[in-house]
Amino acid sequence: MGKKTFWNNKWVVGIGSAILASIMLDSFNVTDIWVRIWGIFVFIWNFLLQRIETPLWILIILPFAGIGILLLILWMKSLNVADNDEPAFFDYREDTFDDKLYRWEYRLYGDKYIISNIIPHCTKCKCRLSGSYCPNCKISSQGFEMSDDEIQSLIIHRIENLESK
Ligand SMILES: [Zn+2]
Repeated sequence: MGKKTFWNNKWVVGIGSAILASIMLDSFNVTDIWVRIWGIFVFIWNFLLQRIETPLWILIILPFAGIGILLLILWMKSLNVADNDEPAFFDYREDTFDDKLYRWEYRLYGDKYIISNIIPHCTKCKCRLSGSYCPNCKISSQGFEMSDDEIQSLIIHRIENLESK
């Protein structure tokens, strides 16, 4: 590839014709937006038609750099999620109330979290109970009398105490 002079460079010619087009439009007081858009299109086309000398190592490194940047963005996003989206109590998903083991989930409701899906579990093997019966231990646990509402109150109470410490 031969050396390019400044004026032979298609990029320069592209910029030149785009500028020239807008100067001409201004001097004739033409406000036709499509002519300007066409000028920009021609400029972009000329820009894309440019041939450049690229060392091979850049072409080899470029995809890796792209992947690296992508991974960096994903990593930063995951940090963001951990820092901002998940509250401190998010890992607190099981506890024992009244010698009974309960597990639950948090759901985002508007801009607040609500406690949902409170499920009693076997205190011995942590198997999910069917009613008050553990299908794994094959024994019935006595009395899960507390309502979901009461358990929710206890969970919130413990979260608040955890956070105030
Ligand atoms: Zn069990």
